[in-house]
Amino acid sequence: MMQENLPEILFDSSYVSEIEERVYKQTMEQRAMGRKIVGIYCAFTPKELLAAADAIPVSLCGGSEKPFPVAEQYLPANLCPLIKSSYGHAVADTCPYFHMVDFLLADATCDGKKKMFELLQRLKPLHLLLLPQSPVPEESLDYWEKELYKVIAFLEKNTGNAITQDNLRKQIQVYNRLRRTVENVFQLNTHDIPWVFGSEIDAITSMGGFECDIEARIAEMETAMEKIRHRSLSGRFLAQMQKRPKLLLTGCPNTNKKVLHLIEKVGGVVAAMETCGGLKSTGRLVDEGDEPIRALAEKYLNVACSCMTPNSQRIEIIGELIDRFKVHGVIELTWTACHTYNVEAFLVREAVEQRFERPYMQILTDYSQNDVGQLETRIGAFLEMLG
Ligand code: SF4
Ligand code: SF4
Repeated sequence: MMQENLPEILFDSSYVSEIEERVYKQTMEQRAMGRKIVGIYCAFTPKELLAAADAIPVSLCGGSEKPFPVAEQYLPANLCPLIKSSYGHAVADTCPYFHMVDFLLADATCDGKKKMFELLQRLKPLHLLLLPQSPVPEESLDYWEKELYKVIAFLEKNTGNAITQDNLRKQIQVYNRLRRTVENVFQLNTHDIPWVFGSEIDAITSMGGFECDIEARIAEMETAMEKIRHRSLSGRFLAQMQKRPKLLLTGCPNTNKKVLHLIEKVGGVVAAMETCGGLKSTGRLVDEGDEPIRALAEKYLNVACSCMTPNSQRIEIIGELIDRFKVHGVIELTWTACHTYNVEAFLVREAVEQRFERPYMQILTDYSQNDVGQLETRIGAFLEMLG
């Protein structure tokens, strides 16, 4: 099993910290001038609507186990760590982002999140988007479009700003540019030898908290890509990368980086991620030629989340990513007590092994460090098997 420091790593947590610091300062200045901050929890939330109301979105999904003790005073201990972390930070007021938000937009996705939001609305004003259970048939889309009109009314009332068609079209273009840029970062790994570590992609594509200046983040991602391209000219770097199996990481949101970092620590490269924040939500653009609300409804209803039934499009996305990134194997991350992803793992394994003919491994874990040694051994054995 290969155990080494990652060679010539350019983008890590210190790179993200610098962005977070700058974005935080910038957001506080804009908040002082009257811009509202909106906390969100899910890839189903159409951020273009928030931006068109001149509000600043911030994702509040927690990735740390620190707030578990306080969360467990309100929630069952055997709940998904993402939900416990998000709620624990909120109720203990230990998250600077949650502290700053004016109100929340939440989506009725999995049962745990839905019920947690009932408690969360005691802390901040919250609007719940009642997500349909299925991306088909057409009635789901009509229903979802109506939900988006309710969001518009909520945002206009709480920000005092009208959401005009012009603003909305402009924000759709901005977020589409962001999606294309994130895609381009991942695209660097479609070569036979990967050019960039998954942990670096995670750092490069991080929004740094508040999404107050998307254009600036796009420019920074482009600069980062230039540096990556330059590094890939080094024969030594590519020689090291060539030894590493390429993997697709799928499953629950990668909110806690334990598994991502372990895979690369023991000798793999996460070439692509079919997760929220990765390629699950960036793959398809909002149709700029369509009526904007309908186009947003279509795009956001088609997030390949396991809360949806059927969710066959996720299998298709996984197959497409396996081919495009030429990965040697697939690792599925499922957080404990995430019933939807854990149940869906059966279908994913079946498709990966039988239809796409790649080795598959599921990792069921939480945010604690207790199982790190055991996971290193398991991941190492999987990578060795990939050769
Ligand atoms: S996995 Fe599903 S519920 Fe969780 S953030 Fe993504 S879209 Fe939302
Ligand atoms: S990881 Fe699973 S259980 Fe946790 S919030 Fe997302 S869908 Fe719900």
